[in-house]
Amino acid sequence: MKGKSTEIIGSGYAGDSRKLERYNSINPPIYHASTVLFEDYAELKAVGQGQYEGFTYGTDGSPTQHAFEKAMTELEGGYWTRAFPSGLLAITSVLQAFLASGDHLLICNSCYGPVRRFARNLLDKYGVKTSYFPANVGADIADYITPETRLILLESPGSNTFEVHDVPAVVKVAHRHGILTAIDNTWATPLFFQPFAHGVDISIHSVTKYISGHSDVLLGSATVSEACYERFHRLCRALEIFAPQEACYMALRGLKTLKVRLMQHQASALELASWLEGEAAVERVLHPALASHPEHAIWQRDFSGSSGIFSFVLKPEYDEQAVARFVDSLDLFGIGYSWGGFKSLVTAGKFAQSDISRYHDRWMIRLNIGLEDVADLQADVQQALGRLSS
Ligand SMILES: *Cc1c(COP(=O)(O)O)cnc(C)c1O
Repeated sequence: MKGKSTEIIGSGYAGDSRKLERYNSINPPIYHASTVLFEDYAELKAVGQGQYEGFTYGTDGSPTQHAFEKAMTELEGGYWTRAFPSGLLAITSVLQAFLASGDHLLICNSCYGPVRRFARNLLDKYGVKTSYFPANVGADIADYITPETRLILLESPGSNTFEVHDVPAVVKVAHRHGILTAIDNTWATPLFFQPFAHGVDISIHSVTKYISGHSDVLLGSATVSEACYERFHRLCRALEIFAPQEACYMALRGLKTLKVRLMQHQASALELASWLEGEAAVERVLHPALASHPEHAIWQRDFSGSSGIFSFVLKPEYDEQAVARFVDSLDLFGIGYSWGGFKSLVTAGKFAQSDISRYHDRWMIRLNIGLEDVADLQADVQQALGRLSS
């Protein structure tokens, strides 16, 4: 007679998911696993000899994670994808994979802010030097390259200020010098910009934004070309990088509705951006799909759509108190970070991150346009603009 505890451990589900009842759910399961079981000693031995094909441990990810990674590889047109617990971790892991002590890294000056902090506080400590270049650099990227430059990190359009890069021009120079290019493709999503078709070697997403789409998931992804696979895979193995399985499930789910959500975000944001251009308090609207945008022609050539986040620069007479009145009198816009979700959000500040940036020292408002009715959003912004001067 076995004891009760032994009976409990062996009862109900006895540790073999292959023997579960046939159940063909339309969505994938979410596996909770550290241990995955092997059939016999021969399999265990094969694992030890690096000759086992299947999953060996929870840190390998699960079929759910791999399904998401496969979807991203296909959508981006790359060779291999790894999911990360956040967008920032995807970026910093790429930097760790492709840079070593003594190397030089080039980053666009409109990059996602925390990337600068990583470069300053971590890369510098490990002997990687970083410098920054402006968005309109194009083929002049050659002037920023040193004999030690190994990687160019682009983000197009840039965070907060939405400068668009001439990606093919930068890529051409980079490849002539044997330098890799990576891009943060979060704004466009794989639907509106195809990095690998434009010659980029590595494409990164904050899946947290449009792909998950509901402000309830943190996840990142990095997709690499075949030539970059070895080095990137080695880093992922060394760190045993994996992503939360619920987040991978939610991202797969988000992908199914990405296009219909993006079409609505695109239409509403464009309508509001065009209307704001005619408002007296607004000096300039920073949205790549507007004809007034400095790199509109490049956007039109390389992108197949625009998403729902943009900024506008206020006329110089408005000070911080005016900005505060505007933000605080909005009703439908939440005050908060991140974007790509269903709810409209606002942030404000002096976004330009360095003095080589175009809108240095100017008050800017950033709007993430959600899925509310656009007429209501416009009425809300209009009444808030009215509070700028009172
Ligand atoms: C939010 C964001 C990130 C970071 O993503 P998290 O998932 O929040 O870590 C990276 N790049 C861009 C452009 C972003 O907007």
